[in-house]
Amino acid sequence: MILSKYIIREQNEATVLKAIIDHYGISRAQVSTLTHLNKASVSSITKTLLDNQLIFEIGIGDASALGGRKPIRLEFNGHAGIGIALDIGYNYITAMMAFLNGDKIAAKTFDEVDIHASNIMEHLEKIISHFEKIAPETPHGIIGISLAVHGIVSDNQIAFTPYYDLDKINLQAILEEKYNYPIILENEANLTALGEYCFSDDQQKNVVSVSVHSGIGAGIVLDGKLHTGLNGTAGEIGHTILVPHGKNCPCGNHGCLEQYASNKVLFENYAAQKNLPPINSDDFTKALQTKEMLAEKLMKENMELLAIGLNNVAMMYNPEVIFINSSIYRKNPDWTLRLKEQIHSFVVQDIVIKNGTLADLATLYGGIANLSMNFLNISQLHFNNPLAQI
Ligand SMILES: [Zn+2]
Repeated sequence: MILSKYIIREQNEATVLKAIIDHYGISRAQVSTLTHLNKASVSSITKTLLDNQLIFEIGIGDASALGGRKPIRLEFNGHAGIGIALDIGYNYITAMMAFLNGDKIAAKTFDEVDIHASNIMEHLEKIISHFEKIAPETPHGIIGISLAVHGIVSDNQIAFTPYYDLDKINLQAILEEKYNYPIILENEANLTALGEYCFSDDQQKNVVSVSVHSGIGAGIVLDGKLHTGLNGTAGEIGHTILVPHGKNCPCGNHGCLEQYASNKVLFENYAAQKNLPPINSDDFTKALQTKEMLAEKLMKENMELLAIGLNNVAMMYNPEVIFINSSIYRKNPDWTLRLKEQIHSFVVQDIVIKNGTLADLATLYGGIANLSMNFLNISQLHFNNPLAQI
């Protein structure tokens, strides 16, 4: 945990809280059985949690078969605090304010904005002050700000950003100076993986999420913890080498996967061969859905190359599921099925490959998950999918 100067709950408190989050309506006696903490400790901890308005008492449960006293049931207060999550793309910013449990309060999107070190604070201040003004009253107020960075983040600092110059400033320090909240920076693909881990209904223990946008990155969550490596570069599968002596890449290598299989390259190739101005995923989807030959040919090439990246990730981490976070595969789910068919090796045949369950909000939900995990001091945190139909 990186927020030592903020509220860090004692381990036992976090253990009790997790039991209450995971088991709606649990009684103190059941918490005691589940956590192996004695009843006096559970009683004292639940009192603290009630005082802090992190839990509620929700009424009386069934008496035990032996006719004991009817227990009082407990529920987590998912609205005890608010997180602000921002995703800084290379030409857009999306933002969401949500409660601890992912219930959305407000969202904002700015498309076609130039992002530079010199103007980023102006954009962020506008969004944050808007959210501060409309934030509802909660016991713990705003618990932090999460920034998703499209680049490498190490120890809460931006280390390298290939598609904008935010690695030239210390954004974390600038924001921390201005705001009295924890400021947490994390790589975009990592947050997407955390979002799927925390909010997807499947509740797997090991999850990889592969984000395909202008670049390609994978977030790896192993047993509730992000696997980031020594310098935050774990999961940078876009920079694994696909073609020896291939195309130049801003990372300094040649022939990196993302120079061949990113959405950016897919759209650029299509537009160049059709003599079109830049296109987006809607334009390409239209061409694909009318079975245009060039679009299908380029998509097939993209799928085959991306599958090589997925195969490598599956071999290295053996996750239960790989979520694909890509506008083009999201809009064309039959191609995600075909992508899975490209993974031939019997070694990883059991793996599930599917589109992310949080659509284009996965990174922002991941930001909320990261803030909640830090605030509650619980890494293996699971909430209901906020996009699921009720
Ligand atoms: Zn590279």
